[in-house]
Amino acid sequence: MDKKQYNKIIIRSQDIAEKWKKIPAPQRGEFIRQFGEQLRLQKELLAKTITKEARKIKTESFGEVQEAIDMCDFAVGLSRQLYGLTMPSERPNHRLQELWHPLGVVGCITAFNFPMAVFAWNFCLSAVCGNSIIWKPSPHSNECAKGIKKAWDEISGEFSDLIQIIEGGNEEAVLICEDKRISLVSATGSTQMGKELAPIVSARLGKLLLELGGNNAAIVCPSADLDLTIKGIAFSACGTTGQRCTSLRRLFVHKDIYDDCVERLEKCFEELVIGCPSKDSSQIGPLISEDSFNSMQKTLESLRAKNVSVIGGERLDIEDSDEYYVKPALVLVKEIEDEMLSETFAPILYVKSYEKIEDAIRMQNDVSQGLSSSIFTNDMRESELFLSESGSDCGIANVNIGTSGAEIGGAFGGEKDTGGGRESGSDAWKNYMRRVTATVNYGEDLPLAQGVEFDES
Ligand code: NAD
Repeated sequence: MDKKQYNKIIIRSQDIAEKWKKIPAPQRGEFIRQFGEQLRLQKELLAKTITKEARKIKTESFGEVQEAIDMCDFAVGLSRQLYGLTMPSERPNHRLQELWHPLGVVGCITAFNFPMAVFAWNFCLSAVCGNSIIWKPSPHSNECAKGIKKAWDEISGEFSDLIQIIEGGNEEAVLICEDKRISLVSATGSTQMGKELAPIVSARLGKLLLELGGNNAAIVCPSADLDLTIKGIAFSACGTTGQRCTSLRRLFVHKDIYDDCVERLEKCFEELVIGCPSKDSSQIGPLISEDSFNSMQKTLESLRAKNVSVIGGERLDIEDSDEYYVKPALVLVKEIEDEMLSETFAPILYVKSYEKIEDAIRMQNDVSQGLSSSIFTNDMRESELFLSESGSDCGIANVNIGTSGAEIGGAFGGEKDTGGGRESGSDAWKNYMRRVTATVNYGEDLPLAQGVEFDES
């Protein structure tokens, strides 16, 4: 995109942010309510666009649009709850209070695998908080972005440009990161992307919200309900063709149930229906690109070269399609292999046995990423340990649920190389506002804080 065109977009965004912030927050919420109604009306069309572009199976595409709708509902309520605390002042006749104000223009860079929901997390909160947004979607999901923008345009009137889209690749993302006029950059994608973009934003002391790669693990304990567990593992490891940031990649199974668990998993992986994502029967669609396929095969080849047991993982010919359909891979490891330490964005599940729960938790935490984690157990001591300060070091910790499929009500995000950001529910809205600490003296004297004396006479 040429610089002139880019500048025009940013100036327009600044202008509209100025107008938008003057509208009371509950009225901004009303716009988001109507946006949610539009998404409901267009749900089928939007879901179809996701399936067409991101190749998600139908039920997941509908689920993604539902997530955007849920975010609208959440943000509407929030528009009356942008609370600031009032603290007791140490000085007589003084009021000490926090005020929350909009930031201005927010930049939002998104990944291919959640082409609508992640934008909705950012936009719905950012909009009720009083900001405009510039969206740079993944080059794989421009149609999804257009679909969302169209729904907004239907109801937004003079505020149509509250959302502006900049299509493009890395160069456009860099422009946003360098731009001082963009107060907050929210970026979702690989850890590598975060490591390249974060220094650019930090160099201008801009605000950053990072949602980066994961390398998620689950622990299966002897008391686990294995029917529930296998179902949870299958969805987390193979759902979305292993292309969720929260996809399950590593599994630690207690030695007493290891054989049973692996046998069941093999059977379950064998029975999963791989096929065109538009078909109702399909549970797994193709990988997003040839690059993704190559990266999966490279990882599996490297494991096979070390004589590690790899079950599945091969390319499948589905209806003569030239897309990259693959069989999910189960990799049975005796020790921690280097390949397990990084995120291969494909359906590969490493399985390793453990003896002591403390060892399983240590292995789970012993990676650079910190997004999602699970334990399958009916032993309260194990689940409580897992959730304690000595347990999972991830931003998301689940009991008897897989690592993927979070609800919007909680804050979403992870630690370490996952970037530390929190989006969607809870108090994530605070990322999209600036905090003012205001002290008001309504007395006739001027007492100083900490009892400091400064008598001018
Ligand atoms: P990606 O990093 O290739 O791209 C994400 C976005 O960043 C795209 O818009 C892309 O154009 C831009 N980008 C990438 N590299 C860049 C660079 N060097 N300079 C400037 N811009 C750059 O990610 P992807 O393949 O679209 O998505 C998969 C990755 O995203 C996985 O690592 C996954 O774990 C992660 N992800 C994380 C979350 C989360 O909430 N933590 C959610 C979804 C996806």
